[in-house]
Amino acid sequence: MRAVWVTNDLPPRTGGIQQFVGNLLDRVHPTSTVVVGPAGEDAAEVAAHDARQPYRTVRAPGAVLPTPAVRRLVTEIAREHRPDVLVLGASWPLGELAPRLGRELHVPVVALSHGLEAGLATIRLGRLVRRATRGLAALTTISDWCEERLAPHVRADRIVRVPPGVDVDRFHPGVDGRALRRSWGVPDDATLVGCVSRLVPRKGQDVLLEVWPEVRRRHPDAYLALVGEGPIGDDLARGAAALGPDTGVVLPGRVAWDDLPAAHAAADVFAMPCRTRLLGTDVEGLGIVYLEAQAVGRPAVAGRSGGAPEAVRDEVTGSVVDGRDRGAVVGALDRWLTDPAGRRAAGAAGRSWVEQAWTWEVIADRFAGLLDEVVTDARRSGAGS
Ligand code: GDP
Repeated sequence: MRAVWVTNDLPPRTGGIQQFVGNLLDRVHPTSTVVVGPAGEDAAEVAAHDARQPYRTVRAPGAVLPTPAVRRLVTEIAREHRPDVLVLGASWPLGELAPRLGRELHVPVVALSHGLEAGLATIRLGRLVRRATRGLAALTTISDWCEERLAPHVRADRIVRVPPGVDVDRFHPGVDGRALRRSWGVPDDATLVGCVSRLVPRKGQDVLLEVWPEVRRRHPDAYLALVGEGPIGDDLARGAAALGPDTGVVLPGRVAWDDLPAAHAAADVFAMPCRTRLLGTDVEGLGIVYLEAQAVGRPAVAGRSGGAPEAVRDEVTGSVVDGRDRGAVVGALDRWLTDPAGRRAAGAAGRSWVEQAWTWEVIADRFAGLLDEVVTDARRSGAGS
C-alpha cells in the first residue's frame, strides 16, 4: 500500500493531533508513505526529526491549508509517488481539497476528524463539515460524542471509529518520575497532583489553581504541578504567586518529549478538569493525556467536555466532573488524595483498560484495515466503470 499524507499537524510540534498523526504514520505502511507537512518553527529540530522517520516528509513553505499552492504541491508529490490512497490529517479544513485531488489523482481520500469538526457541527456550522467531507471515501471519528454530532452532516461514503491511543511500552507503571519531580522542587514524601497539557483556558489549569487553597487546607502536604506551556502561562504564574509563598504550586514549563512518561509518573493523581468554551467550538475531543496518565497507573480526573468522559471510567479509573464546578473538582481531588489504596486500585484498573482498548497497535490495525477496504472498493468501482 502506497500512501500520501497531507497534514498541518505533525511532530515535532506538540499537541494531540500531531501525536495522533505521528503514531499512525509510525505503524501504518511507514516505508511506503510520503508526508506533506507544515514548515514548523525550528528548522533544525524539524530536519532532525524528519531524518529519523521511516517515511519521507516534504515540508511545505508554510502551513498546510487548502490553498492552490498546497494542492499543487500534493499533486506534484503524488505524481511522483503514485499512491493508492490519500490521507488528510484533519478533515477540516483540508477536506476542501478532497474532491479535486481525488478526481485528478484517481485515488480515494480518507480524512481523520478530531474534536474541532464536531464542535463546528454543534454550533450550526454543519455545512462546513458537509463541504469538507463530500469528496471523502471515509471519515474517521474519535469518540461517541463526536460521531453523534458529525453523523448528520458527513457526506463521506463511510464513517469509522479511529480514536487516538497511547504507547503502552513508553507509558507504563514502571516509569520512574522521582528525579523529574525532585527537579521541580517537589519533596519525595509530598502527594502530587499533576496536569500535563498545553496551558489554554479549556484545559482547566486555572480552575485547579483557584481550588488549590481549599485542597491544600485539607491536604497540607499536597503539591500541584501544572506542566506545559501556552498562552495562559503568564496568568497562571501570576495566579500561583498571588496564592502566597509555600503553597506547593509549581509550573515547570514544557517537558521534553522523552520526559513525558516521567512527567505523568511524577504525579500521584492526574487532573485536567477541562470545560467546553466558545459556544461549543473549544471542546475536548477525547484527551490523550488521560490515556497516558492511566497507562502509567495514575487515577485521572477529567472534565465533562466532549469526548473526555469516554477516556476515563468514572469512579473506576478516575473521576469525571463538571470542570466549571469548583466544589466537584475539590471533591474529586480530595477523594484521590485521601485514599492511597484507592489510587493504586484505580491505577491498576486504568492500566488494564488502556491495554485492552487504547493501544496504538489496536488502533493502527483498525486504520490499516480501513485503508485496505477503501482501496479495494475504489479498484472495484474503477474496474466496473
Ligand atoms: P490537545 O493538545 O488539545 O490535542 O490535547 P491532548 O490531551 O489530546 O494531547 C496533548 C498531547 O501533548 C499529549 O500527548 C500530551 O502529553 C502532550 N503534551 C502536553 N504538554 C506537553 C509538554 O509540556 N511536553 C510534551 N513533550 N508534550 C506535552
